[in-house]
Amino acid sequence: MRKLIRRIVQLFIVALLIIIGIVVIKTITFTSKQVEVAPIVPKNFKQEAKMIERLSRAIQYPTISLPNAIDTAAFTGLAALMKSEFTLVDSLLDFQAVNGFSHVYKWAGKNARLSPVLLTAHLDVVPVDESSIDEWQHPPFSGADSSGFIWGRGTLDDKLAAFGILEAVEQLLKEQYIPERTIYIAFGHDEEVSGINGAQKIADYFEEQGIFFEFVMDEGMLIVEDALDGLSQPVAIVGVAEKGYATLTLTAQLKDAGHSSMPPSETAVGLLGKAIYRLETNPFPPSIEGPLAQFFNYVGPEMSLPYKAVFANLWLTEKVLHEQLGKKASTNASIRTTVAPTMLRAGFKENVLPTRASAKVNFRILPGETVESVKAHVRELVDDEHIIVSVSPEAHLFEPSEVSATEAFGFEVIQHTIHEVFPGVIVAPGLMIGGTDGKHYQKVSNNVYRFLPMQLTNEDLKRLHGINERVDKEAYLQLIQFYYRLLENSCK
Ligand SMILES: [Zn+2]
Repeated sequence: MRKLIRRIVQLFIVALLIIIGIVVIKTITFTSKQVEVAPIVPKNFKQEAKMIERLSRAIQYPTISLPNAIDTAAFTGLAALMKSEFTLVDSLLDFQAVNGFSHVYKWAGKNARLSPVLLTAHLDVVPVDESSIDEWQHPPFSGADSSGFIWGRGTLDDKLAAFGILEAVEQLLKEQYIPERTIYIAFGHDEEVSGINGAQKIADYFEEQGIFFEFVMDEGMLIVEDALDGLSQPVAIVGVAEKGYATLTLTAQLKDAGHSSMPPSETAVGLLGKAIYRLETNPFPPSIEGPLAQFFNYVGPEMSLPYKAVFANLWLTEKVLHEQLGKKASTNASIRTTVAPTMLRAGFKENVLPTRASAKVNFRILPGETVESVKAHVRELVDDEHIIVSVSPEAHLFEPSEVSATEAFGFEVIQHTIHEVFPGVIVAPGLMIGGTDGKHYQKVSNNVYRFLPMQLTNEDLKRLHGINERVDKEAYLQLIQFYYRLLENSCK
């Protein structure tokens, strides 16, 4: 007996040593994916004040996107501003309006054999909540220039990208630069309400023309600080994919509701409540595959030791990470398909039991799953013959996007440019939780990247779609430097 125990202890020690050995080897061989690039000296544009002023004026057009409504005067005014301010872009690039309010510009390159590149952004903005208007330090459509910032809706999302791209191109045109490959620029006008009238139509146009891009760069993820414990440097996250989007309606339907003075054991409202409870308490399975695994692969080697070992050994630590990442809403959203009950409808009088109660539940779908698999999973979880699960007819459905490659010219050029313009920043691929116009361009490129070249503090991140949206003027000029350099680097 004693011999057997000794044998078991010996085996245990051997197994432990093997595991420690693997962990150590994996940690040592977990090498940096960053590239050595010398930072560049920022270009002297000599026009900084003008650049700032133009962005400020762009903010003054309230190009708000609402479902099924468009303020045509605001979009027309903004287009006129772009035309009159960027005179070289206007006179030297081919311009095409798409579906009235979206813009496409073509800048012909010298070498027709090289596939073109597309830089894209959107001109519309989200509305401002009227009840919060008093909390704005400057009116949301003032474009106020104050304390080092330009203030207003669209300064972060996404007029800075549209105008930043135009500034970079205008500057290059002024220097009589001719790109090696053809550059396209596209601005959608309804990204905030799904992009189906803007970016989708632009992508249709490119498809009809037989244009296929080497890569597409859209707005998206940012340079963030304190991304993870154990990581001291800011991380520039380049979105290589975005989650899918679907809204399902759950309807509890009873033949006979009964009377509210002697309610039956099952009511429509009660059944619906139970169904939602089951969905919320049984989250979708977590996964660290695909873009998130790639993210850890890029940031892990840059982390301090215990953390580095954790990310070098996902085979061992995955379960613990699921648990840790699942605790916070923001990180939970990157490891699983999320469930958000958003609207409820039932009843018409406080003392009458309804036969019908319905809820809308919004899902953001992880790459690897589909709208169909989500529907099947919901049906299985709800498991109630009185509950009908259907796709909400008024909401748009988007499958999770394809995952764009990191070993591709586009990613490499973006990574290189980030290192040049933002020294000391780590670059990593990542998964975009929210939606972008990027998904519409998948049919005209295998490589769609989602990145806004701007470093934001966690505090400023809250201003996106929120109150007191603003952009640091220096950061805006740096963003222009980025696009300027990206265009040059794309042509090497
Ligand atoms: Zn946006």
